[in-house]
Amino acid sequence: MNLIFLGAPGSGKGTQAEFVSEKMGIVPISTGNMLREAVKNGTPAGLSAKEYMDRGDLVPDEVVIGIIKDRVAQDDAKKGFILDGFPRTVQQAESLEKMGVNIDLVVEIHVADEKISARMGGRRVCDSCGASYHVEYKPTKVDGKCDSCDGNAVQRVDDAPETVLSRLKTYHEKTAPLRDFYSQRGKLKTVEGQEEIADTKRLTFEAIGCNN
Ligand code: ADP
Ligand code: ZN
Repeated sequence: MNLIFLGAPGSGKGTQAEFVSEKMGIVPISTGNMLREAVKNGTPAGLSAKEYMDRGDLVPDEVVIGIIKDRVAQDDAKKGFILDGFPRTVQQAESLEKMGVNIDLVVEIHVADEKISARMGGRRVCDSCGASYHVEYKPTKVDGKCDSCDGNAVQRVDDAPETVLSRLKTYHEKTAPLRDFYSQRGKLKTVEGQEEIADTKRLTFEAIGCNN
């Protein structure tokens, strides 16, 4: 099964993608995590991506498309995958079709902008494995430490309030049109993001048709 998770920054799509990946044994592919890794390692893709990411802008399509093309071709993706954060523009979605990648279902996690802005301040990410946390909704067991590796759970530079606003604007302009793109193809299901992560998880599993 090949899935796409669509949703505004801070909608919780990454967290839900992790649950589904674990449950179904298919790899999560997060372009955000891959780009942050590339920035950390100072690779050519990382060097060109950093300025865009820090501003909260989208990284140019050709950079991200190149990364995804290599990633979905790897062995572990043969059994199925979840794309988290890709595609983010109509051009990226079209290029995915051109690569011949079949998508079974697109799950949109919908959360109102006001709720997102309120949530973002508590968001944390592991600086080593990329696992996502929230101080209120999904705290780490030990303060500031990742649960699954020895990395630190830190706040992202681009989670600063002004940057969040510009990322939301970009989402509505560039990414939200993908709802029409995939609904025209009969592939879109929308899940209303809930206050409690466990409630969203139940709705997400229902939408995909896998048992809790
Ligand atoms: P969020 O979903 O919280 O915005 P991500 O971790 O998915 O965060 O992405 C972080 C940043 O990485 C984005 O703001 C953007 O700069 C870049 N990025 C990630 N995926 C893409 C993509 N598919 N196209 C362009 N830029 C991307
Ligand atoms: Zn970690």
